[in-house]
Formats: sequence, C-alpha cells, structure tokens
Amino acid sequence: MPLTLSKTKLMAYISCPEKFRLRYGLRLKPLRDDPALIEGRAIHHLVESGLMYRDAIEDVLPVANMRFWESTPFETCGYDTIEDYQHAQTRCLSDSIKFLELIGPMPILAVEKDIQVPLTHPFTGEVWDSITIRGLIDLVSETESGPAVIDIKTVGRTPSMKMAAISSELALYAYLLAYPDYWDARPVEVAFLNLIRTKEPKITYDKAVLGLDEFENIVTTCRQVAASIKLGHFWKNPGMQCGWCSYKSLCHGDKQTAVNMLGEYAWEFYQMTKDVVAYQQLSPTLNPHDQAA
Ligand code: SF4
Repeated sequence: MPLTLSKTKLMAYISCPEKFRLRYGLRLKPLRDDPALIEGRAIHHLVESGLMYRDAIEDVLPVANMRFWESTPFETCGYDTIEDYQHAQTRCLSDSIKFLELIGPMPILAVEKDIQVPLTHPFTGEVWDSITIRGLIDLVSETESGPAVIDIKTVGRTPSMKMAAISSELALYAYLLAYPDYWDARPVEVAFLNLIRTKEPKITYDKAVLGLDEFENIVTTCRQVAASIKLGHFWKNPGMQCGWCSYKSLCHGDKQTAVNMLGEYAWEFYQMTKDVVAYQQLSPTLNPHDQAA
C-alpha cells in the first residue's frame, strides 16, 4: 500500500503512535482550535509574509493579518470571549512586526517550499517507491554555502536546549532539500528560528549543519515508521507530550471534557476503537479512511 509520510505525520508517530492513530486513522479533530496554536499559525504566516515582501511590510502585514483571521472565525477558536479573540489579532500583528525588526534583512529563496520525493537511500540510491516523503519548509534562505533550511517555531519562553543538530524534522527537511544528488551535495545548513512571545518579544537561532549521516538516519526512521503504520502498530506513549495533546481528555477517560472538546461522536467512536488490536480487525468496516497516511 503506498504511503505518504509528511513531516507532521512522522513527528506525530514518533511522539505517540496512538496520537497518530487518532489524528490520521480515526481523523478526530478538536471542535475548536487551541488559541496558542492559532496564534502560532498567525505569527508564522505574518512573519513569512513580511520576509517575502520586506519592502512593503506596512501595507502587507495588516492585510495578511486580516485575511488570516477571516479564515479563522471565532466559532472555530477556543477563545472564551470575542474580546480575547480580537485582542489576539492585535497582539499577533504587533508581535510579528517586532519579530521582523529583530530578524532584520534575510535573503529568502522560497517560503513554504513543498517538496515530495520517493524515499531514497542516500548512500546506495535504493528507492522505496511505496513511501513518499513530504515536507513543507518554512523558509529556504540563501547562504554562502548554498540554500539553507529555516524552521520557524513560536514559543512562550526561551528554549533551554539546542536541538537543531539532533532534530528529526530538520534532518528530514535537509534530506528533502538535498534530494537527489546526495553524493555531490554539500552539507545543508539548518536552523530553528525561535520567535519567543515573552512580554518583550525576542528571537534566537539554533543552528546546525547536517549531511549524509543524518540523511541515512532519517531514512532508517522513515522506513521503520512506515512499516509500523502499515502493520497497524499503535500504542499509547504517555509522557510530557500528553500536556499539549489535543486527545488528552479522550485518551485519559475524561468524558465531559472530551465531549466538549471533540464532540459526542468522537467519544463514541473512540470507545468502539480504543482496543487497538480488535480495531485492527474491524477497521475496514468502521472507517474506510483509516490508516490513510
Ligand atoms: S494523551 Fe498522551 S498517550 Fe494519549 S494520545 Fe496524547 S500523547 Fe498519546
């Protein structure tokens, strides 16, 4: 069975296979999105727009902000009041302007660069046609050593650890950017650009250079994850990641919160399918979309 493994799906499976099953197998979604996620998406969009149209920021940003919120109506958001929703719009715009000032000039080659390739071993050139790897790279910037990957993160405090050198997502992006000439390709510069939403917004860069070793590792990871998904191997992996998981109430049996957040249907569907082993036998009749990835 062909399978497309996007960066988001890969990271969801690695962090918790049950989360992957709920999101991409059962296709359960919160009725309203978390405000922190929405504002992260808004700032992401505004900063990318500002970097693309740096000479016209004052005109572009208010329009981009308006369009973003028009496509994200109050009813789909988890804000308590309309005032909170409106305040978020103003704050996202002002934070984004500040972030763009802090970032300064940046030569940009592409924004939201969408790359899909068949999984290919960087050393042997072996191709696994049934596995497509996909990534949407936030920014491809121009450096002296060639195109570089920048992944934007919107966070509430300064990250305590450097992660770029060991990040699977940056390795995946670098692998996609280098495809298909791995032997000739130079190592790829990668970075997390952290947009830190403290009282006074600030930014940090977390940089690394990734090459063939990291590409080989990410190919192995993709092969293992793809094989596990195809075999229907899903299990709960409780831990810190539960703190920001949209399915926490469902997964931890808090019915009232789960119904409020995901709806009655989601609760009942989950009850029918939470025995994963039994569900594997029944899944084709329960949800024809199951395991589509
Ligand atoms: S709450 Fe925790 S264990 Fe349950 S799906 Fe989410 S991350 Fe996995």
